[in-house]
Amino acid sequence: MLCDAVAVFPEAVEDALPGWGDEHQRWTSLAMPGNVAADGGWWLHFHSYLVTSAAGAVLVDTGIGPAGGEAAEWLGTAGRLPGLLETAGVRADEIDTVVLTHIHTDHTGWNLAEELPRFCNATYVVQQAELEHVRDVAKYERLIKPLADAGQLRAVDGETTLDGGLRLLPTPGHTPGHQCVVTERAVLGGDVLVHPAQARWPELTYVYEQDPAVAVTSRHDVLALAAATGVPIAAAHPHTALTGAAMPLPAVSPGSGVCPPHKL
Ligand SMILES: [Zn+2]
Ligand SMILES: [Zn+2]
Repeated sequence: MLCDAVAVFPEAVEDALPGWGDEHQRWTSLAMPGNVAADGGWWLHFHSYLVTSAAGAVLVDTGIGPAGGEAAEWLGTAGRLPGLLETAGVRADEIDTVVLTHIHTDHTGWNLAEELPRFCNATYVVQQAELEHVRDVAKYERLIKPLADAGQLRAVDGETTLDGGLRLLPTPGHTPGHQCVVTERAVLGGDVLVHPAQARWPELTYVYEQDPAVAVTSRHDVLALAAATGVPIAAAHPHTALTGAAMPLPAVSPGSGVCPPHKL
């Protein structure tokens, strides 16, 4: 897990999650204190995942990106992914595959360097439905077109297994072409849920879900998959991995803006 940034969500949690109520607040404070800021706001983490195996190095999502980028400006903080990769001992040119769970600016922020693919030897993998969804949207064209121009963009259509065995699972709703990455140890969930309470209450919708009803179905599906396979869901924004309704109270310190150890 590589935490590109931590920021308090710029909107009130009850605005971001329509249906939010006292029971959600109470549960989150008890079960997920790492996501509750001192003023009652919502700590949002921005996690990328590095998966290494004999088949190569896969990076899932590229965070909010550098200062001056759209997501960094929105959140008032800058990402630090390149430094984290360096600390992990992985150079940008050693990444073989970048999987984008979806094309939002807080998941694609480090796609490029100097308007060229930052991960210069990587194939960037995205669902075809996602590409169609963002076509002609200028801010996304900026982040995606250079990948295609360099011959480094691969569109997949539906469930796909990558070399090395990583499974890409379409989980639409947040966006039409949203996908999760299923490994032996975790479901890398992107924004299939954005707040930990959505693992406890999958029907709790997020205001920026493109199709809320479909998003609820995808959340149920991913929770069922995680339960059936006994692995946690490691989504992009909760501070820690989640195991759904039956999850025990985790041993984490109250939200300090610093990630507790992320044990999968
Ligand atoms: Zn998103
Ligand atoms: Zn996101």
